[in-house]
Amino acid sequence: MTRWCRFVLDGRPHAGCWDGDTVRPAFVDGTPLTNLSRIITGELGAEGVELGAGVGVESLELLEPLGSYPRNLFCVGKNYRDHAAEFSASGYDVSSAGRGDVEPTHPVIFTKPASSVIGPGDLVDRHAALTSELDYEAELAVVIGRGGRRVAPVEAMDHVFGYTILNDVTARDLQRQHRQWFLGKGLDGSCPVGPSVVTADELDLTSALIECRVNGELRQKASVADLIFDVPTLIATISAGITLLAGDVIATGSPAGVGIGFSPPRFLQTGDEISITIEPIGTITNKVG
Ligand code: MG
Repeated sequence: MTRWCRFVLDGRPHAGCWDGDTVRPAFVDGTPLTNLSRIITGELGAEGVELGAGVGVESLELLEPLGSYPRNLFCVGKNYRDHAAEFSASGYDVSSAGRGDVEPTHPVIFTKPASSVIGPGDLVDRHAALTSELDYEAELAVVIGRGGRRVAPVEAMDHVFGYTILNDVTARDLQRQHRQWFLGKGLDGSCPVGPSVVTADELDLTSALIECRVNGELRQKASVADLIFDVPTLIATISAGITLLAGDVIATGSPAGVGIGFSPPRFLQTGDEISITIEPIGTITNKVG
């Protein structure tokens, strides 16, 4: 029942709880909590930390909310039907060329390096010398709490700590040229995460909406209930042979309305502002710079 976040206070990173317009820094035995690792593993519950005085969130610099990643972030491609169709029609989906599977028969799993993660308000690196086709992908991301291997779908939700928002920024030309998606999706500054992590009980997967605006224009709007492969299926699929770790992130895929879904495509330019909202996680806004 908690909305966690990280922010700069007195020049240092702090983790804390976000309630309404204020955040309260968390302390353990008087020492500031700087990341959520011990919360996510369950070593500390919300009742195991002391909360300091509330500070107005508008006055704070928010940071990406986890502060620590055990490894690459797991991501899922083509996991909304309308987006799978727009991606296939765009000519950029060369990874499945010739297979004719507009809609995947198995989850398409790839990763983004933890080094690509940035926080709310940070600049998405334009990489103008490298790409002329930078694109956005608004996604709900699952944060794993209890790790495990061979997690059955019926038990999968017991392994979810909570949820955040992830923008799977993608250099489409690199994604297409290199066939494997890692370079096109792994660039420095291409993975905004935040602005908070809400515990699993705070978000209803059957009704939550995801919205993405670019310069105020609504580009993506969908219900996360429309995922082709739902959260339990994704956890079961990945953990079948890869042991999930506490703090692992699984970005669940982006709905229709990305830049290559338009004709002609609408790629990101320097100065563009991308805002993604999923309540009650909040809104993460980043400019391209
Ligand atoms: Mg994506």
